[in-house]
Amino acid sequence: MRRSATPIIFTAIQSPAGGSSWRDLAACRTADPGIFFPDPGDVVGVERAKQVCDGCPVASECLSYAVGTNQTEGVWGGTTQGERRRLRQRWLKDLREAG
Ligand code: SF4
Repeated sequence: MRRSATPIIFTAIQSPAGGSSWRDLAACRTADPGIFFPDPGDVVGVERAKQVCDGCPVASECLSYAVGTNQTEGVWGGTTQGERRRLRQRWLKDLREAG
């Protein structure tokens, strides 16, 4: 079963200045980066990338970074760009409503 990082995003968004030491623990640190940038519509490629993310101990940090810095390409934290766009919209809406 795929782990959902969605709830964490709203409490753990990190700014780019928040550091990147989490990258040292990334499951993808020795993987081909191209895996995480499948061609548009490549469902098998997306699933291959998401499988790596599923076993990553820093998926939440990665997802927070990607949403917080608006990474618009590739698979980050087990999410596609479309999934992150929706998360970012919700996050920004929550920020606006929080004042
Ligand atoms: S969640 Fe995925 S893309 Fe992010 S660091 Fe882990 S393996 Fe890499």
